Amino acid sequence: MKTNLVFSFRYKTPLSDFGFDKPFALDRGEMVLKRLSEDIGAPVPYLEPDPISDEHILLVHTPAYLKTLEDAKTWIDLFEFRESEYFPERALRPLPSIIDDFKLKSGGTLKACELSLETGLAANLGGGYHHAFPDQGRGYCPINDIAIAIKQLQKIGKIKKALIVDLDFHQGDGTAVAFRNDASVFTFSVHSEEGWPEVKQQSDLDIPIKEVEKEKYLEKTEAGLKIALSKFAPDMVIYVAGSDPYEKDVLPGTSFFRLPLSVMKARDELVIDTFADLGIPLASVFAGGYGPDVWEVHYLSTRRLLERSGLSFGKTIPCC
Ligand SMILES: [Zn+2]
Repeated sequence: MKTNLVFSFRYKTPLSDFGFDKPFALDRGEMVLKRLSEDIGAPVPYLEPDPISDEHILLVHTPAYLKTLEDAKTWIDLFEFRESEYFPERALRPLPSIIDDFKLKSGGTLKACELSLETGLAANLGGGYHHAFPDQGRGYCPINDIAIAIKQLQKIGKIKKALIVDLDFHQGDGTAVAFRNDASVFTFSVHSEEGWPEVKQQSDLDIPIKEVEKEKYLEKTEAGLKIALSKFAPDMVIYVAGSDPYEKDVLPGTSFFRLPLSVMKARDELVIDTFADLGIPLASVFAGGYGPDVWEVHYLSTRRLLERSGLSFGKTIPCC
């Protein structure tokens, strides 16, 4: 059966396998698929990605940085784990082998991008590591799957120009830096002005939102999309659809604005519908989103993407 979703049950990284005293986190992609399957009364098909290679990573990242990912300390810093939470003697896998999980999820982003070029719309039910700089990982992001996918598609001649629409709560700083001097990629970020990172990078178009302006979130996002499209004609779009602006996100740092589900739904419909109407291929990735409820945002977004791809659900959504 044809599908435009990319996922693997191997996306769920069990941190306890690496010796961390951390509970098993809920996998957003798994929750989204479960709910969509309930909606249509049958399992929702998806494609399994192939992991990306070191060669792919080196399209964006420096060899020196890639080498540091062989060191357990790099990962402890990147995930801000405390030494007191780490028990290497209990580990089933050495910590640096966690890169394999990120290679798989980054392969999902590349596959979703390739699919979008064939079908118009596609989604990786994971990925979105927009804080990874070419020479440094941070903010839970070791490698920048978004930048890697674009560079690879450009390398093999499938696209020339790409637009990144990043609506995660946090600025897409790593992606902005990766494409700072690259006129073939337009980076557009709507994010919290007060939120992390304290030092913002310069995207091609930044719309920082202050806590007091949160009522204007949709209006400002829509205006930004229009500006981006007036300046740039992309061959494809990667939509970084972070769910951390949602009011049920539990990360303390996202408290500057918390938007209701109806606004998150309208945001994702705005982006998906804009590019579907224009016939510009769009691939979405999850990016940030923390806690047991944020999957609701990704569910509605993925459902819209499937509806715009021609899948009929036959009933309205009960939530909002
Ligand atoms: Zn975020």
